[in-house]
Amino acid sequence: MVFVVGLTGGIGSGKTAVSDLFTALDITIADADVASRIVVEPGTPALKSITERFGSHLLDSKGRLDRAALRQIVFKDSGERKWLESITVPAILTELRQILDTAPSDYAILMLSSGSGQSPWVHRNLVVDVAQDVQLARVMARDSNEAAQVKAIMATQPSRETRLDYADDVITNGGSLVELKDAVYSLHQQYLSLAREHAKP
Ligand code: ATP
Repeated sequence: MVFVVGLTGGIGSGKTAVSDLFTALDITIADADVASRIVVEPGTPALKSITERFGSHLLDSKGRLDRAALRQIVFKDSGERKWLESITVPAILTELRQILDTAPSDYAILMLSSGSGQSPWVHRNLVVDVAQDVQLARVMARDSNEAAQVKAIMATQPSRETRLDYADDVITNGGSLVELKDAVYSLHQQYLSLAREHAKP
């Protein structure tokens, strides 16, 4: 497998902005969020199991899963949530692993959304960090959400300190998008050199 950089950060910290900049440098991104949608697309074994368990009313007219309705069901029932995870998580891991195993770039990025971020596949942890007030303002502007709603999501995520504890590299995204681009370019040079070391027999 290529050298893998794990990318995490809280909601609205700028993970997508960062991964877009790495994509522009032709670096392969394996995104857990994207994978979690792919594994329940029409025709997948996971979607078949889900409709067998919860009913086909969870499908729209095109046979696509109503993820919000499913979230409602499992939100209230931890047993069902565990069942759902037992179906989807292995499929997501297979999907991500395949992307990493076939990555044509010198290194790849595993984007782990806002979870704790640790994965045995990751050689180096990159955390996007931003002050909470900036995080809040950016998410409210992006999603037209109320502050209380965003704060509630932030409360369910690992703390800034927890994330920074395991970070090998930190991008502080409190500045402009130009500054963000400079930070990504400089890490890119570092990762190319780490990837060369990693590839040595
Ligand atoms: P989520 O966890 O919700 O997926 P995220 O970590 O991917 O969020 P982004 O969507 O990349 O975060 O960024 C949140 C918002 O902040 C977006 O609207 C993005 O365009 C904006 N943003 C990110 N970085 C900057 C920056 N340096 N300057 C100004 N706006 C920024």
